Amino acid sequence: MTRLFNFSAGPAMLPQAVLEKAKQEILDWQGSGMSVMEMSHRGKEFMSIAAKAEADLRKLMAIPDNYKVLFLQGGASSQFAMVPMNLAVTKKSADYFNTGAWSKKAIAEAKRYCDVNVVWSGEEGNFSQTPESSAYTLDPDAAFVHYTPNETIGGVEFPYIPDTGDVPLVADMSSTILSRPLDVSRFGIIYAGAQKNIGPAGLTMVIIREDLIAEPQQGTPSMFQYGIHANNDSMYNTPPTYGMYLAGLVFEWLLEKGGLSAMAETNERKARRLYDAIDNSGFYQNPVELRSRSWMNVPFTLADAELDPVFLKGATEKGLITLKGHRSVGGMRASIYNAMPEAGVDALVEFMQAFEKEHA
Ligand code: PMP
Repeated sequence: MTRLFNFSAGPAMLPQAVLEKAKQEILDWQGSGMSVMEMSHRGKEFMSIAAKAEADLRKLMAIPDNYKVLFLQGGASSQFAMVPMNLAVTKKSADYFNTGAWSKKAIAEAKRYCDVNVVWSGEEGNFSQTPESSAYTLDPDAAFVHYTPNETIGGVEFPYIPDTGDVPLVADMSSTILSRPLDVSRFGIIYAGAQKNIGPAGLTMVIIREDLIAEPQQGTPSMFQYGIHANNDSMYNTPPTYGMYLAGLVFEWLLEKGGLSAMAETNERKARRLYDAIDNSGFYQNPVELRSRSWMNVPFTLADAELDPVFLKGATEKGLITLKGHRSVGGMRASIYNAMPEAGVDALVEFMQAFEKEHA
């Protein structure tokens, strides 16, 4: 068996130890005589899996008691609608930061359900930066403020949490959740698709402050109401059971590894190694301003774009795969989430240096 170093932006690598545990348990989960995939979501076995996953996540992220954790479906993309449908009810206008492709999608969807006030946009600067906190003015009467702490495509990350006063802050953390410790109490809602740092695609996690769970806009479907999911402990309908089980194994793995502070140390080291390799070369370039560089998604271009296919072919031969940049940006992108071993980043840097020697 060969496991490759997969730099995909998502679905992305999962920890090998997690996959091995799942393999070991796939036919018979802990003597139950069933696979987790075959269990009733309301049976005692699965209820214990769900409860442990939530308890471990709460421990990892130090989630305060006045927050609900919801295990949903529909991807982060459904949250683009669900957030305004549930939060823009008495107040009809929301503030949005536009820092890249995912912000834009969130904004476009929100416009169907509320008035969107774009408080800052990085579009003119080709989405290569985040705003300084003095560069925007928030509406104290907005229903909520939405931002994308880490733009997966542009590799642009906020180096701070915006201060929104009493207005609830909503964050699309799809590509940065669990990468480092976080003060959850600063947020009204945190949401994330699972397929990067949590588990397999198909599971969507929402962490919501309880006082924000209220009557949604008229006509909101039941499946899009936070209240219904919260009142039913994420079991209003059949939840993504196997995804929740795998996410639970990932949470266990993270706790065993020393939690999110330990992850932060490793992630910072991995990112620094890669950015150093880019900056210390005359051949590779990363377009993002230094303070906004992402720890998780590192886009880079080669001095000559004609060499892109040669680079990708050579990398694949070394077991370094899915490095092609997003079609809207071009070049390369290395996504280095929690499950990417340091050895993977070392191997990539080694390959980049050898490639530069040969082609520069
Ligand atoms: N937001 C961000 C920051 C993302 O990276 C992605 C997926 N790459 C999405 C939203 C969309 O997520 P999903 O495919 O789970 O709907």
